Amino acid sequence: MLLRHTTNKPVERHALTVNPAKTCQPIGAMYAALGIHGCLPHSHGSQGCCSYHRSTLTRHYKEPVMAATSSFTEGSSVFGGQANLVTAINNMFTIYEPDIIAVHSTCLSETIGDDLQQIVKKAKDDGKIPEGKHVIYAPTPSFVGSHVTGYANMVAAMADQFAESTGEKLDQINIVAGWMEPADMREIKRLSKSLGVTIRLFPDTSDVLDAPQTGKHVFYPKGGVTAEELKSTGDSKSTIALGCFSGEPGGIALDKKCKVPSKTEDIPVGLQATDRFLMALSKAAGVRIPEEISDERGRLVDLMTDMEQYFDGKRVALFGDPDDLIPLTEFLVDLNMKPVHIVSGTPGKRFEQRMREILKDSVPDANIKNGPQADMLLLHQWIKKEPVDLLIGNTYGKYIARDEDLPFVRYGFPIVDRVGHSYFPSVGYMGGLRLAEKILNVLMDRQDRDAPEESFELVM
Ligand code: SF4
Repeated sequence: MLLRHTTNKPVERHALTVNPAKTCQPIGAMYAALGIHGCLPHSHGSQGCCSYHRSTLTRHYKEPVMAATSSFTEGSSVFGGQANLVTAINNMFTIYEPDIIAVHSTCLSETIGDDLQQIVKKAKDDGKIPEGKHVIYAPTPSFVGSHVTGYANMVAAMADQFAESTGEKLDQINIVAGWMEPADMREIKRLSKSLGVTIRLFPDTSDVLDAPQTGKHVFYPKGGVTAEELKSTGDSKSTIALGCFSGEPGGIALDKKCKVPSKTEDIPVGLQATDRFLMALSKAAGVRIPEEISDERGRLVDLMTDMEQYFDGKRVALFGDPDDLIPLTEFLVDLNMKPVHIVSGTPGKRFEQRMREILKDSVPDANIKNGPQADMLLLHQWIKKEPVDLLIGNTYGKYIARDEDLPFVRYGFPIVDRVGHSYFPSVGYMGGLRLAEKILNVLMDRQDRDAPEESFELVM
């Protein structure tokens, strides 16, 4: 009963967030930067910020996360951090030898008004950036937006500061990865390969944050999109950006800089979003979807229909990031479930619009809210007022699940008390199978636990 004081009476709040359903911008920027090969993320602020960003990513991925900091002191907090950053860039290239440094700002450096573009130019003019090496930068003030915004800002910076147009088109399609797990990025590459399409996926954290244990520590793991590959995105035929919150800004930046037309699709979670992604990719590349992928689809449809009676009508509360929740909600509706309470701490008008569209026939009166006051307290109050059968979200949902005795599926970021999320994909038809299995398992475990002896079934 950790949350025993939560009431079932939500009140309108304007200036108070309790247990936010989001985290800070630079965490997203740092995660995106790790998807570039040989990149050292750099946090332009205090050591405490950088420690928090690194530890959050390490706890989620169970991998060491390397990043540097401008180590603001009282002096830099008052007079600005230019000298610290220029020195840091020099030290990093000298000692840690990255190919690329990806600098993001923090609340403190944004409040002072540090201009990253000007400071990086000064470092270049002062000869602190060796030939063939790169420094990119993205503004990530955490007093607005969320970790998703920070991710999107760094992805847009990759496109804007790397892509080059030579005038000769290459037979390749860019895929801007919205925020997804390393296993999801690996699955996007597998699906594209199976269609026979050459893609440029960025960022790409597979083989970085799910790198195999070899017994040797490698500072820069083998994965990640390279600087050359990022440059070549400006010559691609077109771009598919996954996720209108986390991926779309990267596609827009590419279109703006190199005139590569970009189309935004949902992250392919569940049946329909995977259908749309594969159709968009096959159309962009002019190829057919192979039988092996159609078979995977058929297996997902088979499970959905075979087990329909366990999903049917179950009321679900969910929280997390918009690009995860939009296709997940659509998938839950396809499973005949009822997503009744939905919150996301990430602001943006399109979230509620998309959700209302998806739920207009099945749950037209669903409680949906995003932004600063869409927090875990509100979600808990809604659940207390109108109970649900299932809770889906990141680790922070475990307090509500325990207090309300709810089956709980961990999904999203961060997950710091279980493993598997970085190794098994949630995208594509295979990811849909895994998600459906996870949901089924907790619902059927609950049915077993609560069944009276006379109706305790062996075969379900
Ligand atoms: S001060 Fe801002 S940037 Fe630093 S950890 Fe806190 S929210 Fe994140």
